[in-house]
Amino acid sequence: MDDSNALPPLDWPDLLPGWVWLCGAGPGDPGLLTLHGLNALRRADTIVHDALVNPAILDWANPAAERIDAGKRAGRASPKQRDISLQLVELARAGRRVLRLKGGDPYMFGRGGEEAQTLVQHGVPIRVIPGITAGIGGLAQAGIPVTHRDVNQAVTFVTGHDPSGDTPPLDWGAIGRGSAMIVIYMGMRHLERIARALLAAGRAPDEPVAVVRNASLPDQQVLETTLARAAGDAAKADLGAPAIICIGRGALLRQALDWQALAAGAPLRDPDPLGRGRPAEQG
Ligand code: SAH
Repeated sequence: MDDSNALPPLDWPDLLPGWVWLCGAGPGDPGLLTLHGLNALRRADTIVHDALVNPAILDWANPAAERIDAGKRAGRASPKQRDISLQLVELARAGRRVLRLKGGDPYMFGRGGEEAQTLVQHGVPIRVIPGITAGIGGLAQAGIPVTHRDVNQAVTFVTGHDPSGDTPPLDWGAIGRGSAMIVIYMGMRHLERIARALLAAGRAPDEPVAVVRNASLPDQQVLETTLARAAGDAAKADLGAPAIICIGRGALLRQALDWQALAAGAPLRDPDPLGRGRPAEQG
């Protein structure tokens, strides 16, 4: 099958029978899928996708392709990770051209590494197609650069819960001291506990925090708050998952760089939220 004529000319790889391509779909906006991802959607005859993948992206699939929802389904427990991985092995062995489509980037808190490992252990050939992760692209969508020379030379990506559902056994003290920008995935349930740990590590109560829900989607919501107030404000605003939390002075840059608000005609709130008092591009 060669149905790649809608793609720019390039030697697009073919998804051969018996292969699994493990692909990131980006944070939600279909435009944030990669071209390799689009090529994969056109070529796959079986698509195993997560709940977080925007249905509009799935609409780009070959209409004859079988779609399997590996995400949580209402009222039923989500399939076990091992079951999903073994299902991918079976589909590949049955000679299917399998696309495993995951939200964001498959290797960022997406368990893509585990699936890939199971596949190679069973001798199934794979290709990995990275995606735009929510903790970088989702923040950019909300007007927050994940690094900025004036405020952070490092960024730490953290998951807010471990497989047991608890906060992971991280050294919050070290993270709090070591990283001016902390980006938390799956953190809403334990936001209060995480904020407390970071305050105990010496982070300031008035440190800027932004929570971005449904980043890049039409119903994107952004909460601007502080470390001390974050959990309470998020509860008040009824902000649930999926949301990215970022903690650090860089979050203030949204006051200048909320390009979606500017495009909608809102006034520039503050051209220099970090108070540098000079044009940003100078020395
Ligand atoms: N592999 C994904 C992350 C999977 S973990 C990635 O690279 O983005 C799921 C978590 O990702 C959610 O709980 C949330 O913290 C974050 N997330 C994914 N999509 C998001 C979106 N559109 N807006 C905000 N957060 C999102």
